Amino acid sequence: MGDREANIAFAEERLEACPQIKSLRKASIYETEPVGYTDQPDFLNTCVSFLTTLGPEELLDLTSGIENDCKRKRTIRWGPRTLDIDIIFYGDETVDTERLTIPHPRWKERAFVIVPAKDIEDIGVPIPEGSGVRLYRSRV
Ligand code: ADP
Ligand code: MG
Repeated sequence: MGDREANIAFAEERLEACPQIKSLRKASIYETEPVGYTDQPDFLNTCVSFLTTLGPEELLDLTSGIENDCKRKRTIRWGPRTLDIDIIFYGDETVDTERLTIPHPRWKERAFVIVPAKDIEDIGVPIPEGSGVRLYRSRV
């Protein structure tokens, strides 16, 4: 919702400003139709990858804080939101706690994750065909 590109830029700037994060890479930005609750505007999706000394839970604290600072308001599951930051992978580690499941349990079903992720990392799966993920702004 709102200025979708500005919300993405806000999140990326906050990650880049974190002293425990370096070598951040940005995928292109893609536009996708909403999944689940479909009576809402199209989403912009992208991925970043970076090196970090933060642990997985510390990283979640950081990304949750960024979401909150972007004034995320959401009442409907999978409904409109200003910003949603998910942690898809943490190296090749597996995390399964109350707050965190890594790899993200639904990433393989989500073309809007796979397509941008492949811009910046070799994730070992093909691009799904006819996924409806449209290039919005090229960055790679
Ligand atoms: P969704 O991303 O499916 O729309 P939310 O963003 O509302 O859902 O996620 C809610 C909770 O999911 C977060 O508070 C967080 O604790 C939990 N969570 C579990 N695994 C992850 C992950 N890999 N990345 C981000 N959040 C996660
Ligand atoms: Mg989320």
